[in-house]
Amino acid sequence: MTLFGAEEVLPSGNEASLSGAALREQADRAVDELSAAVGEDPETLRKRLLKLVNHAGLGDCDDHELREVLRELRICALEGGGVYRKRLKRITQVDRPQGIGRLPRPRSVKSAAAAGACGLCGDAYATGDLIGRSPFTPGVPYEQMGWQCWHCLVDRRQQPRRRDVLLRFFHALFAGAEGVGLNAHECAVILQWLTEEPALENCKPWIADPLENTLVRLRASIVDQRPTTWLSAQTAHTIVAVLQEAPAAAATTASDSDTLAALVQHLAEWATNPAAVPSAQYGTGWRYRQKLLSLTTHPTVLSRQGGPFHLFQCRVSATGQLVETD
Ligand SMILES: [Zn+2]
Repeated sequence: MTLFGAEEVLPSGNEASLSGAALREQADRAVDELSAAVGEDPETLRKRLLKLVNHAGLGDCDDHELREVLRELRICALEGGGVYRKRLKRITQVDRPQGIGRLPRPRSVKSAAAAGACGLCGDAYATGDLIGRSPFTPGVPYEQMGWQCWHCLVDRRQQPRRRDVLLRFFHALFAGAEGVGLNAHECAVILQWLTEEPALENCKPWIADPLENTLVRLRASIVDQRPTTWLSAQTAHTIVAVLQEAPAAAATTASDSDTLAALVQHLAEWATNPAAVPSAQYGTGWRYRQKLLSLTTHPTVLSRQGGPFHLFQCRVSATGQLVETD
């Protein structure tokens, strides 16, 4: 017998194998069990718990949140005493970068109850690391990201890694956007990558679709610290093809290379339809790309996360104020 009463309820932590209504029922049951164990009114305990995920009711939580909530309840039960009062608290203090690298305020932040993987970049996070969810407005074609690592949640637009810029390319092309919006920090990353090896200018994709004008725009963005510079989808495709030709460089990490290889693979799959996804059923837009991604025979860091995700744009209002998200 555990604090949760029934052995099947929690000790082994089966939340990863549950989803939807079954997961929600289990969370409900676990709240009642902990309530009985610690002697706190179930409604009061439920409210504490919901502060962690910043929702009004368990019914508003998605599966990512319910799983995390269940892990928390298990830890509270195992640790016993008044531990639950310390753990079930909302973190509201989030220091975000100012200016063009700013991302919207996370809708919730907590320390991870268990190790996991970031819902955007796929990096591992450890138990106790701060993780969080981005605000999300439902609307096609975008899907909601899972728990993100701190870098993706707060810092990715201020201190972009090479693969952060590739992720912007991927999700914009996935969604069928006309272009990819980069801030000046991201422009600097892609400019450096395109120019650190001068011989890249002689590679086939560059000659077919010269990037000199793009380099001028990237440099101007950096000088002016612009919030958004739009690259056309065509230019994004060319940049990816050119980067594929780039030699190994100290600034390109193994994870950057993996993301680039995955991006190249999925762009090719979308162009050739190897799984023969029927256009009569899925059209030729994001639904088609999403289906193909889910059917890939070579899963990647990108296909495992799904999407497309809205990665936010920084905009400037008519009065010159930075508007952080759109
Ligand atoms: Zn991440």
